[in-house]
Amino acid sequence: MPQNNIQMVDLKGQYKKIKKEVDAAIMSVIESTAFIKGPEVKSFQEELANYLDVKHVIACGNGTDALQIALMALGLKPGDEVITADFTFAATVEVIGLLNLVPVFVDVDSDTFNINVEALENAITPKTKAIIPVHLFGQCANMEAVMAIAEKHNLFVIEDTAQAIGSDYTFSDGTSKKTGTMGNIGTTSFFPSKNLGCYGDGGALFTNDDELAKRLAAIVNHGMYKRYYHDEIGVNSRLDSIQAAILRVKLPNLDTYNAARLKVGEYYNSAFADIEELETPITSKNSTHVFHQYTLKTKNIDRTALIDFLKEKGIPAMIYYPVPLHQQKAYVRSEFKDENYPTTMDLCKSVVSLPIHTEMDEEQLKYITESVKDFFTSNA
Ligand SMILES: *Cc1c(COP(=O)(O)O)cnc(C)c1O
Repeated sequence: MPQNNIQMVDLKGQYKKIKKEVDAAIMSVIESTAFIKGPEVKSFQEELANYLDVKHVIACGNGTDALQIALMALGLKPGDEVITADFTFAATVEVIGLLNLVPVFVDVDSDTFNINVEALENAITPKTKAIIPVHLFGQCANMEAVMAIAEKHNLFVIEDTAQAIGSDYTFSDGTSKKTGTMGNIGTTSFFPSKNLGCYGDGGALFTNDDELAKRLAAIVNHGMYKRYYHDEIGVNSRLDSIQAAILRVKLPNLDTYNAARLKVGEYYNSAFADIEELETPITSKNSTHVFHQYTLKTKNIDRTALIDFLKEKGIPAMIYYPVPLHQQKAYVRSEFKDENYPTTMDLCKSVVSLPIHTEMDEEQLKYITESVKDFFTSNA
């Protein structure tokens, strides 16, 4: 029987389970009228810092602002080059361009979808000032290599962990860190569909550097170090207290949410293991996976036919992402040559993402995996 309740993300189902706490948290902010920079924001920052084991968390308006504020705080100058992956959500590069910095794209690894470290090192020029590794779809980029390259060439590292909050990276000496706490600054998003989502827009920056933390906190609030003393140009980008209060309810559930996503990922992996035309996502040996997306690579099939087939059965499937950044009209430059991005080009043509969220049940998973299998038997 076709199901009509399968969604890429089930925010309603998740809300129902925490409705009482969330509703009370929202009401208490309204009663307090401390809507901006209230105690809820301060407490959330402390609780998140504690969870991540990082010294400072600075909340802000959204994940895109977080990236922009990070670049502003590092004092980069127009014309400085910032290297990031060709295969990511455009927010990462948008802010580089906005600040008149120069985005430089590099290819990704075909197994993890994350930045390829050889390509990264080859892209460094005397103008390179920073690297933005993105921890795509829920697992960590090769941070040991990224940090070594950054150190060797004296570059800043901003980790974009909008899709991987809560995942752990283990270095070869056995030490483990949460994503977003290894570089100079980490950034994340609390967009509703992210692994830790609020009920509107939200974001945050993380750092272990006391000086940088002060600067970040000033920039998010009009460049004010002292009230009405504007030492530098900032922005107005704040997490509002209602969102912070909701996030305080959700943060203690983050590990459970991520575990639920992992269970879905593992169910899919074993169900699709024998389908030759599908390559299931790997978990790299140094990183845990929090499955922000479950992304398959298709081989030798008409991907659109698969997506249409699933749609008929009430199963949404999406392509993250259909166009490499180096080909996007807003970012295209003559020096970007397709042949330098073979993996990204291939991924954009072959990937397909299936529904994954914290509320998926056995029945839905069975229905989805059987439907995918049906496609291959009926098209064999
Ligand atoms: C969602 C996302 C962002 C942007 O976050 P917003 O809160 O929507 O501004 C940035 N980078 C990546 C990789 C994302 O997935």
